[in-house]
Amino acid sequence: MLTQSIADQCRTIGIHFARCTVRRQKQFFVEHNLNRFHMSTLLHNGFHSQTAIHRNRIKLLIMPTRTPAPAKKMKSDKPATRGPLATERVNAILKDLDEAYPEAECALDHRSPWELLVATILSAQCTDARVNMVTPELFRRFPTPEAMAKATLPQLEALIKTTGFFRNKAKSIQGAARKIISDFGGQVPQTLDELITIPGAARKTANVVLGVCFGKAEGVVVDTHVFRIARRLDLAKGDTPQKVEQELMHVLPRERWIGFSHQIIQHGRKVCVARNPKCKECNLETLCRAKDKTWES
Ligand code: SF4
Repeated sequence: MLTQSIADQCRTIGIHFARCTVRRQKQFFVEHNLNRFHMSTLLHNGFHSQTAIHRNRIKLLIMPTRTPAPAKKMKSDKPATRGPLATERVNAILKDLDEAYPEAECALDHRSPWELLVATILSAQCTDARVNMVTPELFRRFPTPEAMAKATLPQLEALIKTTGFFRNKAKSIQGAARKIISDFGGQVPQTLDELITIPGAARKTANVVLGVCFGKAEGVVVDTHVFRIARRLDLAKGDTPQKVEQELMHVLPRERWIGFSHQIIQHGRKVCVARNPKCKECNLETLCRAKDKTWES
């Protein structure tokens, strides 16, 4: 008779059971006056069962369970304490941006979410200043989604021609108007998932409308300025706007997602321009290690 604890007994028995036929296993149970309870205990104490076919006979195998490998270390969600993404450095960048651009806001003229949506679609590959030149007449002629949905493509094309890619943009704003009427009751939707179903409105456009009109921080607007400067400031390394947005969402406090883009866009227009950035005038210079810096303090 075995005198160990049940768990220990079962461990011992498990070794006997390994590669034992079902018939032999049953015999073993009878011989040692064991029952299903012992079997169950065995399976809960480091053993597992599996069936296998050996010489045309089904065998029940009781095998020691391998200790699972320790889980791989995941990327920490904790803020970094060293390096370019250290909280102190990120906060210093945000503080300097606040000092330089305390009133930064969206540069596209608009009076409603609908107008901002259209203006943002038109701003692709075009300056905000140029868009602001065409939108007054566009919205005078077609002030609502209902009116724009009825406009013909040649009418729209003529009004937005100077913004570039005007044929595609005309289709987009006409499609956006029709979609808003058919699916959203004539109102610009207030969720990212809905906004990105609108023709011409990708994630960047949706983030602009959500942030500026509804105060919702669902993401970070990454335009050409944000993409360039986030990488220059070592806040992101991604090679696409989507990757840079994800990195910025990780490193920036959520309450800064909306304002950060407005500030960086202004910084990109005035100081950190694409070619020959004006590093001597830049109040972020001591925090910046960009390879194409034009001046080092
Ligand atoms: S130091 Fe130069 S490169 Fe760096 S953020 Fe300022 S202007 Fe841009």
